[in-house]
Amino acid sequence: MSKRRESPYVWITWVNRLLAGEDYCEWSSWFKANYEGNSYKKEPSNFDTAKWHMEHTALLLKTRQKFEDDGYEVFIQNQNRIRLQGQTAMLSGIPDLIGLSGSTAVVVDVKTGQPSPSHSTQVLIYMYALEKYDSRFSDFSLEGRVVYSDHDVCIPAGSVTENFISNLGGLMRRLSSDVPAVKVPSEQECAFCPITIEDCQERIGSPQVVDEDENLPATRDF
Ligand code: SF4
Repeated sequence: MSKRRESPYVWITWVNRLLAGEDYCEWSSWFKANYEGNSYKKEPSNFDTAKWHMEHTALLLKTRQKFEDDGYEVFIQNQNRIRLQGQTAMLSGIPDLIGLSGSTAVVVDVKTGQPSPSHSTQVLIYMYALEKYDSRFSDFSLEGRVVYSDHDVCIPAGSVTENFISNLGGLMRRLSSDVPAVKVPSEQECAFCPITIEDCQERIGSPQVVDEDENLPATRDF
């Protein structure tokens, strides 16, 4: 039996693809935001967690070394946890790495898979949330970076615009509303969605690769 959370909770990788326009079914994230993750059935996973951890950790450590060689003070993983309580929900996530140098803080996520615009959106959300949540960075200018195995995508300071904040706020309000968000079933999205037909009768087709451990990236983002 699905159990309601005491208050809405949103993990950042549940929203970056929606904000980037790569996914459209907000109901999946609304359900996760409002119901305890251990209270409902999920589609079985064939995601290779061990392989992902190994490759991700290797790229993260290589990136840390590079930042340290360039003179940055570096924080990684759980040193960077965000728990930003907003008006409607808690927004939570863990940037892979934050590097400090001079008056600049670089917020980094490393990705071992195919590049995608939603990766930059994920880092933009981290930049927005860190500025509000973590006083360690209040005197720094925040930049972002997505690090892939063969190139980086840099996100300049000032990229968190009023328009971006407004879109994120609107999405957070829809995901934390008592009124369920819109379902947009499609073979492409349902194939990667962990919600079973028990909770979503509109599911189309069979799941392909599903993993909803919130400490992992969205399945298509590795
Ligand atoms: S199964 Fe499909 S329609 Fe249902 S929540 Fe997931 S993506 Fe949306």
